[in-house]
Amino acid sequence: MKKFLRLLGKFMGTVIDAVKQEANGCLPNGKKVQVVFVLGGPGSGKGTQCANIVEHFGFTHLSAGDLLRAEIKSGSQNGEMIQNMIKEGKIVPSEVTIKLLQQAMQENANDKFLIDGFPRNEENRAAFEKVTGIIPEFVLFFDCSEEEMERRILSRNQGREDDNIETIRKRFKVFVESSLPVIEYYESKEKVRKIDAGKPIGEVFEAVKAVFSSIDAKV
Ligand code: UDP
Ligand code: MG
Repeated sequence: MKKFLRLLGKFMGTVIDAVKQEANGCLPNGKKVQVVFVLGGPGSGKGTQCANIVEHFGFTHLSAGDLLRAEIKSGSQNGEMIQNMIKEGKIVPSEVTIKLLQQAMQENANDKFLIDGFPRNEENRAAFEKVTGIIPEFVLFFDCSEEEMERRILSRNQGREDDNIETIRKRFKVFVESSLPVIEYYESKEKVRKIDAGKPIGEVFEAVKAVFSSIDAKV
């Protein structure tokens, strides 16, 4: 009997997973969306390439970091906490980031979203999936050496409080320890499309285009 119940439980879990997978997730207002996660270390080119993808493939770009920075500027009561975490290169609690992402997807008329810089750890990933039911179509991973990422960040001058060498080192450490496991998780689900991101912008975009063109062909 116990064995039967265990098997039944496993079967139901699989059915629920399949339903979720097929629906690709719904927002609280019932809106159905298609999501691609864009991951890679700080300075790997996520933001730059997302702008290109938006132009060519009709996605809306949501940068989790930008949403958090906008939340600080808006004077929200979480603002100070978020600002401190960003300054230290730490990961903001999932519920804060997920709420901002969900809101942004609901407010936008588009149903195709690039979520850039999220999920950053396993907890982010599992919480997003649990709360939204959204399974990403695939995960675009910008693979780049720390040396190159450091060079780019130090020369980009966007006036960001976390673009100094001390915080950059912390962000690299968080990326390796917390974010790479997320990419490994999606690798085990065969969802990762890895891009060699150490090359010039145009060359990287050629590789990105190949990935997005192949999903266009599938639909
Ligand atoms: N951040 C976070 N959760 C997220 C996205 C960003 O806590 O889901 C914080 C984190 O402190 C990170 C900072 O925001 O170091 C900057 O993130 P962003 O994605 O803008 O930086 P990038 O990695 O693109 O340089
Ligand atoms: Mg960014």
